[in-house]
Amino acid sequence: MGNSLWWIRRDLRLTDNGALAAALAHAASQGGTVIPVFVIDPGLAASPYWSERRWTFLLGGLQTLDADLRRRGSRLIVRRGRPGVVLARLLAEAKADILYAEADYSPYARARDARIARSLPLHLVDGLTVQPPGAVLKVDGSPYTVFTPFSKAWKARPQPAEADLWPAPDRIPTPDGLAGETLPALPLDAGFPPGEGEAQRRLRAFAGGPDAAVYAYGDARNRMDLDGTSSLSPYLRMGMIPARQVVAAAWAAIEAAPDQGAARSAETWLNELIWREFYVHILAHFPHVRRTAFREGLRDIPWRNDRDEFEAWCAGRTGYPVVDAAMRQLVATGWIHNRARMIAASFLTKDLLIDWRWGECFFMQHLLDGDPAANNGGWQWTAGTGTDAAPYFRVFNPVLQGAKFDPEGAYVRHWVPELAGVPAARIHAPWMLTAAEQQRYGCVIGRDYPAPIVDHGLARQRALAAYGAVS
Ligand SMILES: Cc1cc2nc3c(=O)[nH]c(=O)nc-3n(C[C@H](O)[C@H](O)[C@H](O)COP(=O)(O)OP(=O)(O)OC[C@H]3O[C@@H](n4cnc5c(N)ncnc54)[C@H](O)[C@@H]3O)c2cc1C
Repeated sequence: MGNSLWWIRRDLRLTDNGALAAALAHAASQGGTVIPVFVIDPGLAASPYWSERRWTFLLGGLQTLDADLRRRGSRLIVRRGRPGVVLARLLAEAKADILYAEADYSPYARARDARIARSLPLHLVDGLTVQPPGAVLKVDGSPYTVFTPFSKAWKARPQPAEADLWPAPDRIPTPDGLAGETLPALPLDAGFPPGEGEAQRRLRAFAGGPDAAVYAYGDARNRMDLDGTSSLSPYLRMGMIPARQVVAAAWAAIEAAPDQGAARSAETWLNELIWREFYVHILAHFPHVRRTAFREGLRDIPWRNDRDEFEAWCAGRTGYPVVDAAMRQLVATGWIHNRARMIAASFLTKDLLIDWRWGECFFMQHLLDGDPAANNGGWQWTAGTGTDAAPYFRVFNPVLQGAKFDPEGAYVRHWVPELAGVPAARIHAPWMLTAAEQQRYGCVIGRDYPAPIVDHGLARQRALAAYGAVS
């Protein structure tokens, strides 16, 4: 005995991994070994939120992790089945007496872990967030439901610095002879190569040094035609980089900023990282948001739920170029800019009056960073049904949003090539081109590119009436 299992779920990293550190400490104190294990749970593929693309990214991350483990005298054991059954068997086979895992707060994960902890020696260790749910509460002990006071209280807590992180261990003693599945060889996604090394590279590129992109984030982050954000979300989603390290890097960037504007930019980025934590806390404290609106008064909006319009939205064929660009990028790559997410989500819920849960589900099926907490929070925020929600009467105008955040139309032209010849002045409203202009620019509306499926002005009025009827 004295051996320990490190049960990997969404913490695919060796750096600053509390569950691994605890397993190693246990093994060291008992003269035992550590068995890193990943369990392929067939139940997950049955979920409506299942994403083949995210799964491939995860498997690629496991292969990278296995290579990193092998360099340290260890290896990953992959088994398939119901986690409770698989882990009970492995504990016995490996003569292990304890099981460590990083705590996860989605309702599914919590129910699973509670079930397993009833019969197995499961110990959960924080690490998904810098401040775990329960650590940031109001003075009366209740959870925050508004972001700004939450973020103030969050910042007042002890903050991580790079020096506090557990470095990746040099050696991990793992016994030979434990059987496991071989992971399939998979095509790697050139846009988002999986693994801890790539995540570290992205963090350095975005937040390291005096000329780092983080110092332009304040202006660039809203521009859909620029690479102005860190693109770390898939890596944070799978724990390929520790949240504590990313937050430490944000504080270090604020500290080292060359001027006040740069410091403000870095602080804006830190705030986005706190939004991530906020939504994890919201889901943990109010698990009902997974199924219904946070706001009780907005649970019965009379959605239209027109299936053809939903399909046009999914396919990027609404006739609103910026919405279509966003949806085509999502389906093609699994990642879209935050501004594009808000525009696409606002169009679905307000212009088409389609239930935000339809969009939430479609995003989960396609996003590489698809996360139950952040995705739900983003959808409820945009639909106006959430905690710290935008008021429901704030309806994004897709033409104005496009003109402001994709001023030359470069983003639209890339994802909607039918519009490649349309000049910037009309790229976000091509239906306003005359018939002769449509011919000249090679894009006849209704033939080469759809006419708008709704009139935004009328749709806005319809949405306000529908929301107004229940609030
Ligand atoms: C409708 C909708 C759905 C969304 N679904 C998801 C999702 O499934 N998974 C996800 O990680 N993010 C989601 N977001 C939030 C946000 O769009 C992405 O986190 C961000 O675009 C990722 O790009 P980045 O890594 O370059 O972010 P950066 O701008 O560099 O931000 C750094 C990190 O902060 C976090 N973050 C940034 N903005 C937010 C935010 N508004 N809410 C929560 N966390 C944030 C992410 O982890 C991100 O990687 C959603 C937003 C909306 C409006």
